[in-house]
Amino acid sequence: MTETVLILGGTREAAQIAAEFVRDHPDWRVITSLAGRTKEPKPVVGEVRSGGFGGTEGLADYLRAECVTRLVDATHPFARQISRNAKQAARIAGVRLETRMRPPWKNQAGDQWIEVASLEEACDAIPPHARVLLALGSQHIALFASRKDVHFCVRMVDPPEIPLPLPDHELIIGLPGRTVDEEAALLTDNAISHIVCRNSGGDGAYAKIEAARRLAVPVIMIGR
Ligand code: NAP
Repeated sequence: MTETVLILGGTREAAQIAAEFVRDHPDWRVITSLAGRTKEPKPVVGEVRSGGFGGTEGLADYLRAECVTRLVDATHPFARQISRNAKQAARIAGVRLETRMRPPWKNQAGDQWIEVASLEEACDAIPPHARVLLALGSQHIALFASRKDVHFCVRMVDPPEIPLPLPDHELIIGLPGRTVDEEAALLTDNAISHIVCRNSGGDGAYAKIEAARRLAVPVIMIGR
């Protein structure tokens, strides 16, 4: 049976799913939806649409208008709103929903994780005068502005549109390093004493966790 699939994407895994569907089912219509936050997103196989739907109702309308038969939520584990919307919209439109969520990383021997439950707790857990690699989305940076004693290295895919509110920081523009050696060099060159990140899971951002293990750098890990 031919299908029209809408993949809620923005992750490497979503792009892989789209490529598999297109390869294995050439008769399917495969649409990947991106939020439109990244200026130059990596190419995705199949159709791509970009930008919000306008909440649950907007997504339900889209599902009906495009005669979507299958909705796949392959968004980032911390993208919670769109996942909530997907559940409700699938119900409203009577479309089958499949959730493909990465499992979280597991604390391994040699890891020095300080596990916290929120961004606020992460901010409080940073020791005085630390040098922190802040590996978070741009929308979460402002909360750390209260830590005037801390030097932050902020890694972002695109340069910020307005200056970051952090008093003492430097920007590293680009994707996470692919290898442990690359990430270890970044930690060493910047004399990083702590990493703050979220437990995203997946391979794409894991090299920094392995580099921290190798160099015995503590990771303030925000749980799901
Ligand atoms: P979010 O808080 O769950 O979503 C906020 C709003 O953005 C949604 O209500 C929806 O707007 C729109 N949206 C989100 N994902 C969308 C998608 N795939 N297609 C169309 N609209 C989408 O999401 P977020 O945390 O801002 O993340 C945005 C996107 O970036 C997601 O696709 C996610 O997979 C990707 N991403 C997020 C992270 C992260 O750390 N959160 C990391 C890597 C990649 P409407 O209500 O108007 O439909």
